[in-house]
Amino acid sequence: MYDKYSMKAEEFIDDGEIRASIAWAEENKTNLELVNQLIDKTDELKGLSHREALLLLLCEDKDAIQRIFKQAEKIKQAFYGNRIVIFAPLYLSNYCVNGCLYCPYHYKNKTIARRKLTQEEIKQEVIALQDMGHKRLALETGEDPVNCPIDYVLESMKTIYSIKHKNGAIRRVNVNIAATTVENYRKLKEAGIGTYVLFQETYNKEQYEYLHPTGPKHNYAYHTEAMDRAMEGGIDDVGCGVLFGLNLYKYDFTGLLMHAEHLEAVHGVGPHTISVPRLRNADDVNADDFKDGISDELFQRIVAVLRIAVPYTGIIISTRESQHTREMVLRYGVSQISGGSRTTVGGYAEEHQDENSAQFEISDHRSLDEVVHWLLENGHIPSFCTACYREGRTGDRFMSLVKAGQIRNCCLPNALMTLKEYADDYASEDTRRLALEIIDKEAATIPNEKVREKVYEHLNDIDGGMRDFRF
Ligand code: SAM
Repeated sequence: MYDKYSMKAEEFIDDGEIRASIAWAEENKTNLELVNQLIDKTDELKGLSHREALLLLLCEDKDAIQRIFKQAEKIKQAFYGNRIVIFAPLYLSNYCVNGCLYCPYHYKNKTIARRKLTQEEIKQEVIALQDMGHKRLALETGEDPVNCPIDYVLESMKTIYSIKHKNGAIRRVNVNIAATTVENYRKLKEAGIGTYVLFQETYNKEQYEYLHPTGPKHNYAYHTEAMDRAMEGGIDDVGCGVLFGLNLYKYDFTGLLMHAEHLEAVHGVGPHTISVPRLRNADDVNADDFKDGISDELFQRIVAVLRIAVPYTGIIISTRESQHTREMVLRYGVSQISGGSRTTVGGYAEEHQDENSAQFEISDHRSLDEVVHWLLENGHIPSFCTACYREGRTGDRFMSLVKAGQIRNCCLPNALMTLKEYADDYASEDTRRLALEIIDKEAATIPNEKVREKVYEHLNDIDGGMRDFRF
C-alpha cells in the first residue's frame, strides 16, 4: 500500500501507485483544460505532485509543451537567476564487488584497469583540479569494502580539504558512494560532506534486481532507503537521480518524484539536488543493448517538468551530455554542471592517461575555461560558490533562503565574488574579459544596498589578493 510516510522502500515507492499514476496520466493527457490548469498552478511555486507532473510529461500537445518550456524557464529565472554552479567529479577508485549490468566497474570485467588512488595521487589530482579553478568536487568510487572502505573515503576527504595550492582550495566535497550504514553517514557528515549523492538507477524493483544481479547493490530496499539513513546520520543535503535508459522513463520519473515527496514528508526537506544522467557507452557496456533509451527531445521535457514540479531542487547535468543538449537544458532548469571532467581514476594529473579505467564515455570534452567562456557567452553566470553548506545553510535552512527570495542578495553576490576569483586566478584573457563585464553588470543589480556595497568592497579586496568571501 502506498504511504509516503512509510520508512519501507516498497511502500513509499509503491509499484501499484506508480502504475496507477501512469494509467491516470495516460487517460488524462489529452485533457488540455487540466493540463493548462496544472501549468498555471506552478505559478504559485509550490510544485506539483508526482501524478500531476507525469501528466504534463506525457501530454503531447505542441502548444502545451511550449507552455511547459516557457514556464520552466520562468521558474528557473525566478529561483536561480542565470547562475550555474560548477563542479568536477573525482574518481578515487574503480574497484567494485557488484555485478551491475550497465556499469563497466562490475567485478567480472577483466578488461578495465583497476585502480585506487593513493593519498599522494589524490593530492596531485586535487592540485590539477585547483589549477583549473575548481572549488567543488563530487567524489566517485565503486563499491568495495576491502579495497575502498569508508576509512579510505574519509581520509581522502581530509586530504582534499587540506590542500591549498597557490590561491586554490576545494571548499565543498560531495560524495557519491554506495548505500551504507547510518554510522558511516555520520562519519561522512563529521568529515565535512557537502551533498550525499546516490542514484537510484531505477525505481522498478524487478528491473532493479535484474540489473544488479549480484553484490550488495542487489538489495533494492537497502539502496532505496539509503537517503533516510543518510538523513538519520545527520546529512540533510542529499542528491537523488535515476539513470535514464535503464527502465521505462515514465516509471522512473514518477518514482523519483515520489522519493522526493517521501523525503519531504518524513524529514521536512526534499532532495537538495536531482541528477539526470543518461546511460552511455562504456568499456564493455553498449548503451544500444538497453531498449529504454530516451530521445534528446524527451530528455529536455523531463528536465523542464522537473523544474516546475520541484522548484526548490537543484538539477544537475554531467559531461555525459553534449554541448548542444547542455545548452538546451540549462535554459529549462539545470542549475549545476560539471566541466573539464575526467571519468578515469587519476585522469586529471596524468596527461596521457590510459582511458581504460573510465566509467563511461563523456560527450563534452571541453576544458573548464571553454565551459566557463561558453556559459558567459550564453548569458549565464558561472558560479564557484560553496557558501551555503559552510554557513550551515543546509537542508531546510537552504530551502528557507530560496523561499524567502534572498537569492539575489545572497547567491548572486557569492556567484560574482567566486567568478571574480576564477577570472583573476585561472581564466584565459578572453574569458576573463567576459567575466569582468558580467560581474560589473550584475553587481549593480543586487537589490540590498548594504550587500551591494559589501560586494564592491570584496571585489576590490580580491583585486588586492584576498580570497574566499561569502554571504
Ligand atoms: N558505486 C556507487 C553506487 O553504488 O551507487 C556510485 C558511484 S558510480 C561511480 C556513479 C554513477 O554512475 C552510478 O550511480 C550510475 O548511475 C552511473 N553509471 C554507471 N554506469 C554508467 C554508464 N554506462 N553510463 C552512464 N552512467 C553510468
